[in-house]
Amino acid sequence: MLVSLIIPMLNESEGIRSLWSRLTEVTSQLPSHNFEAVFIDDGSTDQTAEIIQELPATVGLSWKLIQFSRNFGHQAAITAGMVNASGEAMIFLDADLQDPPELIPVFLEKYQEGNDVVYGIRKNRKEPLWLKFCFGTFYRLFNAISERPIPLDAGEFGLVSRRVGKLIAGMPERDRLIRGMRSWVGFKQVGVPYDRPERHAGTTSYSIARRIEGALDGLFGYSKVPIRLAFFLGLLVFVLGGVYLLQSYVMMFITGNKGVIGWRSVITLIFMLGGANLIATSIVGEYVCRIYFQGKSRPLYIVETSSFSPGSQHTSAAS
Ligand code: UDP
Ligand code: MG
Repeated sequence: MLVSLIIPMLNESEGIRSLWSRLTEVTSQLPSHNFEAVFIDDGSTDQTAEIIQELPATVGLSWKLIQFSRNFGHQAAITAGMVNASGEAMIFLDADLQDPPELIPVFLEKYQEGNDVVYGIRKNRKEPLWLKFCFGTFYRLFNAISERPIPLDAGEFGLVSRRVGKLIAGMPERDRLIRGMRSWVGFKQVGVPYDRPERHAGTTSYSIARRIEGALDGLFGYSKVPIRLAFFLGLLVFVLGGVYLLQSYVMMFITGNKGVIGWRSVITLIFMLGGANLIATSIVGEYVCRIYFQGKSRPLYIVETSSFSPGSQHTSAAS
């Protein structure tokens, strides 16, 4: 059986060689399978592509390199990997060895037991406490409001069968959270807990701003709840305003006091209503903005060139 290892790369030159030797080691212990690494160079500005092109292929492990014309993002890179994968099963794995290749045999075992999707569950993330807290909150919030929950503490690291991989790759949407799409397709799915180590070389390419953007894409791309929340917030503010008005007339009737009282509450109301209006408009804007980008129907990524390890059989890469 041919297994594709889909590996997105952005400026990973420091770690490629050790990744390759770990992959060679793990795959050599699985002689009944053939492996192809599908590297996606997501617009690296360092030596990533050059180093990949020098990697020695073995009998059981070849490589393909798909080079984007610029940086299109992690999720677009994984999608390109699925489009270009020839394997019967596809395994997603980060280039920085945070996703230990030693789990490949476990994933394959679960696949052979009849699971279409096998995903790694991070038992303990070796990341700063505040980042752990943010991830935890995001996943819980996402699951509370999205139409289809995603497994807690699971990233992309895992295996999908060819049919699931091609299904996900064929979905036209721009806001791609692969782990969300993978959960959405259904079929038999199973989680495998593992310890997530730290990056072994280089630095993360995710700034806080990019992480927030990713989280917003996840929340708004997969849920109608925020837009409904805006409606109920508006309704609540409207009703409260009405009740307040009624109460002030009643009080005026009872006390007979018509003086210029209540300017504070007027100011408060202006602020509150203004705030509620802004919140509601921005939530609508989040969706409109997504419809706009989706409407443009641009490709998710552009492939500049592709290359293959010497002697490997290859299918041509499509953009
Ligand atoms: N990556 C990518 N394109 C990007 C950002 C990241 O292909 O725009 C790759 C990166 O090389 C790595 C994986 O995606 O293989 C995960 O990225 P990273 O380790 O920086 O993220 P983190 O593990 O910190 O969430
Ligand atoms: Mg990483």
